[in-house]
Amino acid sequence: MFITFEGIDGSGKTTQIRLLKEKLTEEGHSVEVFREPGGTDISEKIREILLDANHNINPVTELLLFSAARSQLVAEKVVPLQESGTIVILDRFYDSTTAYQGYGRKSLPIKNIREINEIASHHHEPDLTFYMEISLEEAEKRNKDKQKDRMELSGDEFYRNVIKGFDSLAVSEERFVTLDATAPAQKVHALIWEQVAGRLS
Ligand code: C5P
Ligand code: MG
Repeated sequence: MFITFEGIDGSGKTTQIRLLKEKLTEEGHSVEVFREPGGTDISEKIREILLDANHNINPVTELLLFSAARSQLVAEKVVPLQESGTIVILDRFYDSTTAYQGYGRKSLPIKNIREINEIASHHHEPDLTFYMEISLEEAEKRNKDKQKDRMELSGDEFYRNVIKGFDSLAVSEERFVTLDATAPAQKVHALIWEQVAGRLS
């Protein structure tokens, strides 16, 4: 099984991934978690380039770098692990690219972004995608003490478009499960577990 988590920064993806990993491990499953961009030596190097606030990166270059990091992660980790029966969980996947580099950055028309996503993922689609839905205002409250990376310096209008992107994917993609990210963490976890357990049996 291949599960991805999506949503803006501060939506609680990382916390929910930790809770889900603990639960799956407790139930006897082999689980691996990776973050995007990242998860392999090459992809972590690409992450450093992407998030360095001193870099002025062209929007298409940005799109291709996120995609290059993804291609390496899928080929090197996601596919082989899944083939060996491990459940793979990703903290972001290509839906983030549709939302950030597509709706947010408007680097290329969404149709082109989808094609690049297909290529960069080696046509490997998640079985289930949890979308942690939260308003920009609420997320900003949670992030207020955090140092901003290059992407996070993009401004409110950018982030409002990113949210529009996720909201639109939530409507069009059947694998999306939308969760209220402002609910208590344990309550959100219970909803996530219900979905995952239903697919394991
Ligand atoms: O989720 P995480 O904090 O690790 O993501 C690192 C940064 O990259 C964040 O600022 C996130 O918003 C950004 N990002 C992006 N486009 C993606 C994936 C992540 O702009 N496709
Ligand atoms: Mg994060």
